[in-house]
Amino acid sequence: MRVLLRRVLPRLFALAIAGLTCFPQLAEAALDPIVIQEWQVQWIPQEASENEGPPADGTWQEADAGHPLSALPKGAKGVWARVTLPPTDGWARPGLLIERLYGLDLAVYQERRLVYESRRDFEFDRNKLLMALAPANHPAEYEIRILTSTERAGILGGLRIDDFDRLSHRYASRDVPDLLLGTSIAFLACIMLLCSGYLHRRQRSSWLTLCLATMSLGMLIVCYSPLPYLYLPSGGRLMLLLFDLSLFVLAPAINFYADQVFERQYAFFTRFSRLEAVYAAICLVARFIYEFAGERNYGVYSFFFNGIMGYVIFAQLLLLIGVSVLHAGKGSRNAVILSAGLLLFALSGALDLVLYYWSDKTYVLYLWKFGAIMLLLSLVVILARRISADYVMLLRYSKELELYNHNLQRTEKLEIISDLAASIAHEVRNPLQVTRGFLQLLAGRADPKSKSYFELATNELDRASDIITDFLTFAKPEMDTVSVLDVPAELKKIESMMAPLAAMHGGVIRFHAEDRLYVVGNASKFKQAFINMIKNSIEALNKEGWIEIKAVARDGQVVVWIRDNGEGMDEEQLAQLGVPYFSTKTKGTGLGMMVTMRIIEVMRGTIEFRSQKEKGTEITIRFPLADPDETAPLPDELHL
Ligand code: ADP
Ligand code: MG
Repeated sequence: MRVLLRRVLPRLFALAIAGLTCFPQLAEAALDPIVIQEWQVQWIPQEASENEGPPADGTWQEADAGHPLSALPKGAKGVWARVTLPPTDGWARPGLLIERLYGLDLAVYQERRLVYESRRDFEFDRNKLLMALAPANHPAEYEIRILTSTERAGILGGLRIDDFDRLSHRYASRDVPDLLLGTSIAFLACIMLLCSGYLHRRQRSSWLTLCLATMSLGMLIVCYSPLPYLYLPSGGRLMLLLFDLSLFVLAPAINFYADQVFERQYAFFTRFSRLEAVYAAICLVARFIYEFAGERNYGVYSFFFNGIMGYVIFAQLLLLIGVSVLHAGKGSRNAVILSAGLLLFALSGALDLVLYYWSDKTYVLYLWKFGAIMLLLSLVVILARRISADYVMLLRYSKELELYNHNLQRTEKLEIISDLAASIAHEVRNPLQVTRGFLQLLAGRADPKSKSYFELATNELDRASDIITDFLTFAKPEMDTVSVLDVPAELKKIESMMAPLAAMHGGVIRFHAEDRLYVVGNASKFKQAFINMIKNSIEALNKEGWIEIKAVARDGQVVVWIRDNGEGMDEEQLAQLGVPYFSTKTKGTGLGMMVTMRIIEVMRGTIEFRSQKEKGTEITIRFPLADPDETAPLPDELHL
């Protein structure tokens, strides 16, 4: 990158300059343009005839680019400008360009002879003048007649003399970026309008307001540029109408959109928005009446529009600045972005208006266009942020839904199993008890030799009964003897119990627990749950295996982690965990995790698994932290 900047770019630049200087056409036009900054003016009174030639007498006032004298005094309908042009025979085709002037009908005289004329039948008074000059080897005096029906007329900035081709290029190209900007914004509005079909009804109204604001902004920029009026003079009236309509739509639309974004929190702003909308609607009607019913209604329209509109928009911009700052102070990041966009727009617009009134209405507003682009940019950024946030939320919802479905299925299965388990265990336990009683009875009568067989049979029956009791634990895991358990002590016992098994599988158990961790529950159920988990970890171990058990207190909870570097599980296996009879082992029952999860659930705890194939598994178990000094009775109903 740096090489590109340091070496390649300067060379390219030098090449371009060399190419340009060798280009014959451009080399020929090397004569510098002349800009005339001074001229003289004389007002044209209302009663003067339209086609009158330059005045022979009367007082001429000095004017220049700094003091263009373009504000018409009362009783004047235009201005004569007198200027002396230098010799022009240095150019093959000399020309004159006035890039900025206020006026509708223009006429140029040389030695009392009309040499140029242009007329306008619509009231867009930002005009330009471009004409070819006859080459002359001596200075020549020209008089320019500028007539208008607005309150300003005259030349601003100066008169440029140069090669005609270069001038005509300059005449057109200066305003092209504006046209491009305006049409692209209007095009964007069309696309937004098309997209509105995909929106929810509730979002649609604010979206449509935004479309309307964008469309009118685009139109406004196009119709504010002098270029279309120069090239399409027959459409001038229509463009002026469009300009006014866009303004009357844009101002309230921005307010309504901002109000919706500010969630109508600022009552004064809402009220102002409504008032301005009513005012804009009146202006709109007045404008249409003026357009279609003729000149005589101009007074009414002009009062509403020219008299008040500027101040109303100024007040609106000030209010927008205030509300944006207020809102940014307490809002989210989106609110800050939007407020910044609105603030830039309002600031640039307000500054433009201040400069406009300050310069006695000779200033051409242009800062607001940058503000408008910033506002649009901020809206696009917010839109993008909202879409990405929606996407993240959608993902989260679908994950939650999947988890919920999975849990639901598991619960349903558990329900059936526990019902079956309870009834079968109950049914089996009774005959077992009866059989045990008879066996004992027979044992009393039996000879000492067979007594040991009876004892063996009774023991086996007891074992069967124990298994059934365990099964019942799952079916109805009531915590009959509930107490406050000292978690580190319980875990330590479990660890010493399981360490030999781990060693048999070639692994070690690392154990670490903070002091004073207490939970409420049944000690043997607690043990059963943890033994199941640790046993699974041991069975998953490969060579150089380890299991880590860690317990800490965090945010009012006891958190226990059991990690191993065993074979791990894939997504599918993880999803199956806790489903009855799910086992990947040849001699597995597939009941261990189901019972464990059930016990933890009853102890009001939660369990989470993270696992990666070939890497290992981490189980996180959380219980509510209990207080051992609590004198209140322990809950004895710790079951579902
Ligand atoms: P069993 O141990 O009888 O197979 P469990 O319900 O205890 O039944 O476990 C179900 C299955 O979950 C196991 O077969 C095993 O595939 C998987 N599993 C549980 N814990 C782990 C672990 N720590 N590492 C790897 N796989 C595990
Ligand atoms: Mg197991």
